[in-house]
Amino acid sequence: MRRYQLYIDGQWLDSAGGWFDAVNPFDGAAWALIPRGTTDDVERAVSAARRAFESGDWPTLTPTARGALLRKLGDLIAADAARLAEIETRDNGKLYVEMHKQLAYVPQWFHYFGGLADKIEGAVFPTDKADTLNYSRHEPLGVVAAITAWNSPLLLAAYKLAPALAAGNTVVLKPSEHASASSLEFARLVEQAGFPPGVVNVITGFGSEIGDALTGHPDVRKVTFTGSEGTGRHINEVAAADFKRVTLELGGKSPNIVFEDADLEQAATGAVAAFLAASGQTCVAGSRLLIQDSVYDEVIERVLSIAAGVRVGDPMSPECQVGPIATQPQLEKVKRYIDIARDEGAHCALGGGVPERPELARGWFVEPTIFTGVTSAMRIAQEEVFGPVLAVLRFSTDEDAIRIANDVRYGLAAGIWTRNIPRAINLANRLQAGTVWINTYRMVSYMTPFGGFKASGIGRENGADAIKEFMQVKSIWLNTGQSTSNPFVIR
Ligand code: NAD
Repeated sequence: MRRYQLYIDGQWLDSAGGWFDAVNPFDGAAWALIPRGTTDDVERAVSAARRAFESGDWPTLTPTARGALLRKLGDLIAADAARLAEIETRDNGKLYVEMHKQLAYVPQWFHYFGGLADKIEGAVFPTDKADTLNYSRHEPLGVVAAITAWNSPLLLAAYKLAPALAAGNTVVLKPSEHASASSLEFARLVEQAGFPPGVVNVITGFGSEIGDALTGHPDVRKVTFTGSEGTGRHINEVAAADFKRVTLELGGKSPNIVFEDADLEQAATGAVAAFLAASGQTCVAGSRLLIQDSVYDEVIERVLSIAAGVRVGDPMSPECQVGPIATQPQLEKVKRYIDIARDEGAHCALGGGVPERPELARGWFVEPTIFTGVTSAMRIAQEEVFGPVLAVLRFSTDEDAIRIANDVRYGLAAGIWTRNIPRAINLANRLQAGTVWINTYRMVSYMTPFGGFKASGIGRENGADAIKEFMQVKSIWLNTGQSTSNPFVIR
């Protein structure tokens, strides 16, 4: 079994905490040993990041040279995409086909933000004081703690590290204990690209053991986090104690709204993909399907027939469309929500159990599951399941659809299916969601802001403005006059 090490200050180190197993969700087998980082490792990593921010080559590197390093890192990831994708599939059970596409796309973040590194401009202000020059600079914050979830480890790391590094910060990356290996492999590429020691540090371990030491460390100036609402709330509280900035990308309960004037086949296919992609383990999963009364029967019939034909199996196989759940506790949680939905009176129209095929017996599988007869007050319509479970609701008017869609604490994403463009635009304006897709679903880009309304988070990742989330503005005043008049007199 491959035994990994931590990457701190440009060195590969064992942890005094020992190791824990990386487990393959498809067969439950341990396949690698991941360092169980300790609070001492956190201290070491943050100190290294602080040193690298304050001295050595990094702070004197020009933004253009920083950008070149980032682009080189992107090229190295591109060359290694297939291998990294295989590692992520082994770790989190998501389809290899999807992870490969994702990893082949990740370099764009390093290319895009690498290109932005030398294009962040300050301003010169027209002052109301005589004989002064007043201008601003955008400066990096310092040490950034980047904490990621298990569902897309390197994509989420790219969302955070590409802009943070382009801005001139240094980083301590902590991936999820459920999918750590690819982040340590990524550190290898950071080393190869030639980043100075301490600029990027990767520590692994359990959030419950080292999370607070990292987010509460006085030398960390920003925490950028992707994960659950509960952890996000806790991190927000810890970070607030000494005024750290936070970006929080949290959960969702995103609605997919199908109108009678939609292309119904396209909408039904889109709705199935939206709740089954990544076995529903994506923050933007379209986990609520809202169907207009007049086409309810037709749409639900199509959705059930498409979902019933989906191939569940080995995520490494190109034929497979739905893989396992990433962790055993997560599997138990999904099963619990299926029981809750039944108890609440929802009708289980598809699935609801565990596939009985012997070749899947050792994996953490649950059948694609669809509940009809759901009302907005039910927990299955309100809470994030993070599994292949769809809650179907009905609506009659546009106002109805908006009310139901917005009737949750989350606001990450929404889908609208209609051929009526004014209706689509009106809805898009009124939905409480950070992303709205019209006649499509689940598109993201390095160029496009991404983030949540309400309990789905704080701040935005991606897009040109994301780099400013890792910078602070300084105003500089210069006396350009010849006069030596008393500076204490306000002119
Ligand atoms: P999680 O909150 O359990 O863990 C996320 C990360 O936080 C892990 O690295 C974990 O080790 C760490 N952590 C745990 N306790 C911590 C603490 N006290 N201090 C600091 N770090 C701590 O989430 P998860 O189960 O890994 O991921 C699933 C969740 O992530 C879902 O809710 C999903 O919606 C969300 N998610 C959101 C987005 C988005 O962009 N909005 C993307 C993917 C996943």
